[in-house]
Order: sequence, then C-alpha cells, then structure tokens
Amino acid sequence: MFRSRPFMASVMASARTNLKRTANRFPSRFQYTPSRHYASYRRFDNSPTPSITLTNFLYNRNNIYLGLGLVAVYVYNLDEAPFTHRSRFIWIPYWLERKIGDYSYQQILYQYQNDIVPSSDPLYGRIRTIMNRLLTSAINYSDNEKQREHLKSLDWTIHVIKVDPNKVPPNAFILPNGKIFIFSSILPICHDDNGLATVLSHELSHQLAHHTLEQLSSQPFYIMLSAILYSLTGTAGLNDLLILGMLQMPASREMESEADHIGCELLARLCYDVQEAVKFWGRMSDFEARMNGSGRQALLQEFFSTHPATGKRIHDIQGWLPELEHIKESLGCYQYGMGDFNRLKTEFFGKK
Ligand SMILES: [Zn+2]
Repeated sequence: MFRSRPFMASVMASARTNLKRTANRFPSRFQYTPSRHYASYRRFDNSPTPSITLTNFLYNRNNIYLGLGLVAVYVYNLDEAPFTHRSRFIWIPYWLERKIGDYSYQQILYQYQNDIVPSSDPLYGRIRTIMNRLLTSAINYSDNEKQREHLKSLDWTIHVIKVDPNKVPPNAFILPNGKIFIFSSILPICHDDNGLATVLSHELSHQLAHHTLEQLSSQPFYIMLSAILYSLTGTAGLNDLLILGMLQMPASREMESEADHIGCELLARLCYDVQEAVKFWGRMSDFEARMNGSGRQALLQEFFSTHPATGKRIHDIQGWLPELEHIKESLGCYQYGMGDFNRLKTEFFGKK
C-alpha cells in the first residue's frame, strides 16, 4: 500500500475509540489524582484501599501469570515472513484474513463502482500481464507449501479506478483477499511498465507477507498495553500517542519497507532493472515535494506515519541493489539472450 490503508485505518481508529469509551467508564468508580503518578480509588463502602503503583502491579502474582501466559502465546505464534525471514507474531488464521478482505472489497467496489476502468482497456491488459508474471514468480519462489496453496487459491483481481488527479493523490492498495486497486493518479508517476511493476510487486508483497494479519494480531496487545498504562498513570491521551508513535507506526513502516524489499526481489527474479524502482520513488518524491514541502514538518509527519519517508525508501532500495544484482546474475539475466529464456522458464516451470 502506498499512501493509505483504508481498512486498517478504520480498524485502528475503532480500537482507539473503544478504548477511550472503556476508559471513560472508569471515573464513576475510580477517583484519580492528577498531581500524582498513580491511580487511587475507594471501595463501594468508601474505605480507603492501597494505591495501584508500578511495584504493586509487577509483584501481583496474577499479573505475573498473565504476563507469562502472554509470552507463551507470543512465542507459540511466532511466524517467519517469506523472503526476508523476519520473525513476527501472527495468531489470526489465513481464512479470516480472506473474509476481512471480502468484506472490505464489497464496500470499496460500491464506493467506486462508476469509476472502474473496463477490463477491455489496453492499460488494464498491460497491468494484468505484469501482475500475472509477478504472481507466477512469487508462487514459484515461495519455499512454503501452505503459502503457495494459499496464493493459488485466491481470486486475484485488479481494478484501475479513474480519479481526478487534482483531488485524489497517487495511491494503490491491496486487500487481504488478493484484490488490488490502482488509482489512475499514480499512473503518471509509474511512467511505464517498470513503474507499474514496482507498484504491483509492492502490493503483492503485502499479501505474500500477510501484513494485514500481522497488524490485526498486534491490536489486542496495543489495547492491553494502553489499558495497563492507563491504570498506572490515570491518563489515556498521552499513552495512546506514545503507543501509536513508538510501536504501531514503526511496525507499519517496517512492513512497508519489507514490502519494498520483497517487491524488489520479485522484480529481480523476473530480470527487471531494479534501478527503475529507484526512479519510480524519485518521481514520487518530486511529487511529494511539490505537494507538501520538506524539512521539520516532514520529519514530524514520519513519526506518526504508516509509511517510511520516500527518501528512506530510495536509500533502502539502493542498499539492496548489490544483493538484487547477484540474484539477477545467478538467474542468467545478463547472459546474451538468456534473460528472457530464464525468465520464461521460471514463470512456467518454477525455480528448479
Ligand atoms: Zn504498502
């Protein structure tokens, strides 16, 4: 996803709203003293009770059992991301990811039903051809049988949405059921098939790495952490901001960066010139500079942003280029006439 993730944004906003609603119920029973760093409350018979301090909280046996239980659940559900082999926590099953995608898909289709570019359009044909090659390569290079079967079972669909570029910023996103939406405002930045491949490989990589599941899996822990901090400090707003800025947003940016990395590897395995991905992000950076400016404002924006700064993305891809060039060389992309042969062989017969 490039600039926004409509479904995840609504889930996170809903979680924060629910937390605040829960928190707002506490004052009727708890009496907080803003000048102190812990919460105190009175029983229903109005007799004073011990204050909740960090020490009390940590030495409570039930809390220790709860903590150990959570650690066990966390370790049991650790999962390895494909291609990058990053360890992450996922406890939600694949089928639920698809159901969530189906639900969002119907909503988005309804919203843009009159703006979808018909599949007979030549542009749609170009996009579909690139996507089919990327998908075939992704399936063939996946070393996880369950993952391969999952990718094959999805009903992959691409929709190009015609929008006014002066009103809708460049954007593309994928739903966790294999439905990809590309806004026409991103097409001038794509410029050619290499740019389209950069966008599509990034979106496909979100699905390959199950980033939606990873985000949803973390939500209960953010809510729990927020509740614990609330019980210790008696305030919610600052805690939520800290959790958002120091945990949720960095995790989201890491997933975006991982999608860039996996996407570039997919491009390299199809003998694409990965330098074109750098050029794509360069054009995106120029667009952002025209729209937003730069400097301190941009730094602050990144702290609370779901996406890495575009300059960082360019820098990261440039850092991966030696590794990507090695992949291309090992596949024979630079042998005279062999690049296309090996690419076709990979697409139709897999990596062996
Ligand atoms: Zn993304």
